[in-house]
Amino acid sequence: MILIANCRVYSPQDMGTRDVLVAGRQIVAVKEKISLPQGLDVQIINGKGLMMIPGLIDSHVHIAGAGGEGGPASRTPEMPLSRMLEAGVTTVVGCLGTDGLTRDLRSVLMKAKGLRAEGVSAYMYTGAYQVPTPTFFGDVGKDISMIEEVIGTGEIAVSDHRASTPTITELIRLAAHSRVGAMLGGKSGIVNIHLGDAENPFQPLYDAVNMSEIKLTQFLPTHCNRNEYIFEDAKEYGKHGYVDFTTSSYPVFPDEEVKPSKGIVELLKAGVPLGHITMSSDGSGSLPRFDEKGKLVKLETGGLTTMMDELRDTVKEEGLKPEEALQPVTSNVASILKLNHKGHVAPGMDADLVIVDDDFQIVHMCAMGAMMVKDRKMLRKGTYE
Ligand SMILES: [Zn+2]
Repeated sequence: MILIANCRVYSPQDMGTRDVLVAGRQIVAVKEKISLPQGLDVQIINGKGLMMIPGLIDSHVHIAGAGGEGGPASRTPEMPLSRMLEAGVTTVVGCLGTDGLTRDLRSVLMKAKGLRAEGVSAYMYTGAYQVPTPTFFGDVGKDISMIEEVIGTGEIAVSDHRASTPTITELIRLAAHSRVGAMLGGKSGIVNIHLGDAENPFQPLYDAVNMSEIKLTQFLPTHCNRNEYIFEDAKEYGKHGYVDFTTSSYPVFPDEEVKPSKGIVELLKAGVPLGHITMSSDGSGSLPRFDEKGKLVKLETGGLTTMMDELRDTVKEEGLKPEEALQPVTSNVASILKLNHKGHVAPGMDADLVIVDDDFQIVHMCAMGAMMVKDRKMLRKGTYE
């Protein structure tokens, strides 16, 4: 058992100062004062002056590696556990990406299982950029219904020079099979869409919805901040469907991309409901840096810590309250992905907790009821770290 005492708890709602009791893998009590009988084996953590927030949920991470667009030497490696722990991320959703041709869903699934064995929560999407998309059982719906870790489809590329430019019928079929698979498996069946930088990037999604019974909320389009005109379109799209911002690419392409923290505030001003907005890192994807002559000078992988950076900036620079700024990285993601035990600090929820100082630096962290970071020191590492 772990008792975290005297923390300002954001569930993400502001609960005031609370004691939080963890038993096994779950939160069992959130109260003003919890007193325990003598003789119990309880680890007590003093949370005075600190904030407790739900562990962040990152809905788009290339956990088994990605990249490769600069040749075989540019393939990114698998994501080690510490990348999540340093970022306050307790749940990831893995995906393949551009390379659905030489990489395999099986390695994403085994990586998700590996991360779970190391103590965090991991899920995945079936499929890749390409349509027809790679699957385990020959159909995305079969994968979603029968494989516990698979909660949706993606990232399917549209409006991009690397996309296989699926027809509207193909998109409808993917979304419909995801939906039926999700009904059978009790999942969300979300279709994570990689938006490229073609004009009118949301058009294929509007077309799919207009030509079928599929709802716009079946899709979770990501990279909606990749340039100004996509972002402008997202202001209208977001009134009807979900909008996801990528956090790891902004520091690399600050002249092209819209900063996620600023983007959230602008979407809200445009009338997009906060519940429609999410952020993900696109972590472990490749981020090529070019010099002014366009020559490739450096390849980096996207960092998960950029989610916490944007959360902090949404509060500190944009002036949103923590209980609002937290939703795009916790409760909104949990609800869109139907991860019913995630995204909230409340009794019965998984004990995924991050305790931060007022600059959103991680002081303590607990994933599935186990301490991962204590007094700013990482207690666990991945198997090969
Ligand atoms: Zn992408």
